[in-house]
Amino acid sequence: MKARNTLLAAFTLSTLATAVQAADEVVVYSARIDELIKPVFDAYTEKTGVKVKFITDKEAPLIARLKAEGANTPADLLITVDAGNLWQAEQEGVLQPTKSDIIDANIPAQYRSSTDSWTGLSLRARTIFYSTERVKPEELSTYEALADKNWEGRLCLRTSKKVYNQSLTATLIEAHGAEKTEEIVKGWVDNLATDVFADDTALLQAIDAGQCDVGITNTYYYGRLHKQNPDLKVKPFWPNQADRGVHVNLAGAGVTKHAPHAEQARKLLEWMTTPDAQSIFAGVNQEYPANPAVQPSAEVASWGTFKADTVATEVAGKRQAEATMLMDRAGWQ
Ligand code: FE
Repeated sequence: MKARNTLLAAFTLSTLATAVQAADEVVVYSARIDELIKPVFDAYTEKTGVKVKFITDKEAPLIARLKAEGANTPADLLITVDAGNLWQAEQEGVLQPTKSDIIDANIPAQYRSSTDSWTGLSLRARTIFYSTERVKPEELSTYEALADKNWEGRLCLRTSKKVYNQSLTATLIEAHGAEKTEEIVKGWVDNLATDVFADDTALLQAIDAGQCDVGITNTYYYGRLHKQNPDLKVKPFWPNQADRGVHVNLAGAGVTKHAPHAEQARKLLEWMTTPDAQSIFAGVNQEYPANPAVQPSAEVASWGTFKADTVATEVAGKRQAEATMLMDRAGWQ
């Protein structure tokens, strides 16, 4: 937090001091942790000489700031996680479409906005994790099956307030309709071993500690925890391989509506979809590159391959309100 404030102060001072914006720089509002984004910008500056200034905050304050600043914003690019958040930014009118053959060629359409307002840059699966001590992978099949009686008192979930779970539920609604989805989600809630968790890491630790046997989290949290503790008694399972596939979400970016350097922002965004940048962007957080021509890191590859859901990720945004209400009705705290 201290580092963030210092950065913010330095940034504000420097923008005040610069009455005329330099043409060879890009200003980024980023909801990604500093350590995960700085190596990407450093590589870009080294390659092109273009400076990248950035501030880091949560997505909601960044979007609010973009709205408040309007045409006076210094920001050219918004980086955040989850298609639900990017879609929200698009709805709030703080992004502009960026038509680019490079981006279209590098990133599959399902990971981009249908209006070209944002593109995914890295992918994460939100999948099932299980205790290697108490669960055999053969007992697992689909997200839906976690609502079955045999998981009663054995399931852990993160709070429904987190966009990741809202996006997962949104895609369930897309696949099954609201009525069936509510049944599934109620089944999950009935099967909970304990109160919902505030974060994915605590949930994985709970499985390891024996508090529950299965849960749903993003893959990179597992990657981080497994790196700290190679003896973790938890493994990923890839559900729904016989039907629609694993729920995949993304981290991504879009050029801001009033970008002072829209052209530079587009070039940076395009570069971030190329193999050089993809390896860094995805690699630092143990994510999957959104460019399918780029291999994931060895650690990520060791978790095995899977079939991913091909639904457009923007469904997470389109059905977000519906999903949130459904989760509430189902009693998912
Ligand atoms: Fe996360």
